[in-house]
Amino acid sequence: MTRAKRFFFTFVLAAAILVPGFRPVAIAGPAAAAVSPSAHAQASPDWERIMTEAGLVDIQALCPDIRVDLKYSTTDNFVHQDVYGDLDKCFLQKEAVAKLAAAQKRLSELEPGWRLLVYDGARPRRVQTRFFAIVKGTPQQQYVADPAQGSIHNFGAAVDLTIVDLNGEELDMGTAFDFFGELAQPTLEQQFLLQGKLTEAQLRNRRLLRRIMTEAGFLPISNEWWHFDAFPREEVKKRYKIIE
Ligand SMILES: [Zn+2]
Repeated sequence: MTRAKRFFFTFVLAAAILVPGFRPVAIAGPAAAAVSPSAHAQASPDWERIMTEAGLVDIQALCPDIRVDLKYSTTDNFVHQDVYGDLDKCFLQKEAVAKLAAAQKRLSELEPGWRLLVYDGARPRRVQTRFFAIVKGTPQQQYVADPAQGSIHNFGAAVDLTIVDLNGEELDMGTAFDFFGELAQPTLEQQFLLQGKLTEAQLRNRRLLRRIMTEAGFLPISNEWWHFDAFPREEVKKRYKIIE
């Protein structure tokens, strides 16, 4: 080490000890230099790069008509934590995006001006691990896939979504997104209708979402009205890798 370098490192070390908040970004390499100064951004991985490198596609790049409101990039979600940080785009496998574009096209034919509103798509496994740790041992555990198996979201082949009308208002589906209870379960809808806990209008809205999604080739699941898989689990596992 030259004298100049020794002096520089001594200076950096002294600054790191003496100056609160000092970060020696200049000597930490280009990756650290690219990090935004907010503590929030430092804690969040570069999801967009991770998704793109995994071969995933930004939904809105292929289908700008679809709206995106990533709930896990806000604190308005069941863990009350912003787990995606700066990410505001939603990624999926390209075959899933093609199906989603077909669903949006069908919706536009049936109800001109109405849009799909996507809450979540590809979800890296490390996020799933965080969710699972929070719900483990609680009644909510049944609604969060074990990261050891991987959720279809972890493969980039599942989507959570609803519909917005001409005014951009979300249709009334009877429960909010991520409502972890029986009222969200499609298989119990008729029972709740008879009990007056769901209305005919709410069921009509859910049926419209299911109709356009299944016509486009998605598969609904039994316990969440907002969740659809692009392919059956076995096919997903053959086609894609888990995004870590
Ligand atoms: Zn889902």
